[in-house]
Amino acid sequence: MDSKQIVIIGGGAAGSAAAQVLHQSELNLEVVVVGAENRLPYNRTTVNKGLLSGAVSAEDIAMPGMDMPGVHWRIGRTAVRLDTADRSVQLDDGTSIAADAILLAPGATPRNLPGSIIGDASSNRVLSLRNLADTQRLRAMLEDTSRRVLIAGAGLIGTETAGILLAAGADVTLTDPSPLPMQNHLGQTVARWVAEAHAAAGADFRTRTAVSAVQTIGNNLQVTLDSGSQREVDLVLTAFGVTPATQWLADAGVRLQDGPRPGAIIVDGHHRVDGVPGVYAAGDAAAAPGPNGIPVRVEHWGAALSQGRTAATTILNDLGDRPSAPPPAESPSSYSTYVHGTKLTIVGTASGSTREQLVLGEVGAPRFAVSFFDAEDRITGAVGVGGARAVNRLRPFIASGATSSQIDAAGDTAMAGTAL
Ligand SMILES: Cc1cc2nc3c(=O)[nH]c(=O)nc-3n(C[C@H](O)[C@H](O)[C@H](O)COP(=O)(O)OP(=O)(O)OC[C@H]3O[C@@H](n4cnc5c(N)ncnc54)[C@H](O)[C@@H]3O)c2cc1C
Repeated sequence: MDSKQIVIIGGGAAGSAAAQVLHQSELNLEVVVVGAENRLPYNRTTVNKGLLSGAVSAEDIAMPGMDMPGVHWRIGRTAVRLDTADRSVQLDDGTSIAADAILLAPGATPRNLPGSIIGDASSNRVLSLRNLADTQRLRAMLEDTSRRVLIAGAGLIGTETAGILLAAGADVTLTDPSPLPMQNHLGQTVARWVAEAHAAAGADFRTRTAVSAVQTIGNNLQVTLDSGSQREVDLVLTAFGVTPATQWLADAGVRLQDGPRPGAIIVDGHHRVDGVPGVYAAGDAAAAPGPNGIPVRVEHWGAALSQGRTAATTILNDLGDRPSAPPPAESPSSYSTYVHGTKLTIVGTASGSTREQLVLGEVGAPRFAVSFFDAEDRITGAVGVGGARAVNRLRPFIASGATSSQIDAAGDTAMAGTAL
């Protein structure tokens, strides 16, 4: 078989996992990975945790096994145009690469502060954390005199980062427009526990609060909150979500998701881009069919790795003219996060649930767990605080959407729990 050329846009979790699968193939392939960051792939999940605290270095977090014969890295280069007619990608240096298959894995970029930023200097001190360079910049500022930090957004990244900065002795104000942090992910009970944990750790945590403006006053940033109150800080960190890095695809003929979370590339269960032969997408920038067939974009490391592998397997099957096996049944999303040193394990979702049950311990104890049920009494997810044993036992029930009586009938009486 003649050599085939595959281009991967994005050297993150999805792109690097795909490159590894392609590299192991018996087909005669040349793989080019185009990555906007000036470095080989690394573990992005550490940039607001171990890398920020200094527990690990940039070298420690490099992804292993990236030196693969037949895989060529074009790092520090950005794809600026996709031509689906001749299946090629144009880069920011004016060069163009034609390919037999193109995998789009550009990830996502942090949302900008919605309020106004007034004054030139302030924009240098209004940061977000998406990559290693962001963390290095933030660490340098913290080592300087920038100890008062306002984090706008108390989601996973804002919460984790607040914990790291407080532990490092910073003065942290954390704001979030919602009444409770991450209630969609964690449910009301655990969200309330998180709010109390922020206060106990020493954060000035303000719910129902958004930043409306940031202004430079002398050496300080003056942050105006939507309540009208003002706060002087050295740095503002924006942490209220990301948007798929797909603006450069707007005119490419690739179908992008619209609605409240727009911009993701719509793919089928095998990660083929809808209606564009030879083009695939994976990771934070892709929306694949969820349990009810509606495209869902997932923003988790494990999902990006597995989507990258699936997309690469589909590419190999398509190039080899082999059928792809039916996509595996969707397993519930699963991830963990740290809240001021306590590990939370989240399986499935609290979103759409109408009822919560305590399935382990007491709320506020070092270990407790809560499960979520929808209006039809089907379990939608569970959160373990301080331990994952209870949520791991619930995994198969969450995967099948079991009712509480089916969980009871399985004989695991502890899992039926106590209503909250
Ligand atoms: C601070 C932080 C902490 C996180 N912590 C966790 C965690 O604890 N657990 C968890 O499950 N998930 C976590 N995540 C999410 C996880 O890191 C992402 O879901 C995952 O990295 C997505 O992988 P990806 O390959 O789709 O995108 P990315 O890893 O973002 O990689 C995309 C790459 O493509 C590059 N790129 C973008 N556009 C172009 C272009 N046009 N041309 C060339 N290159 C381009 C980008 O610069 C980037 O290097 C965290 C994310 C962040 C930012």
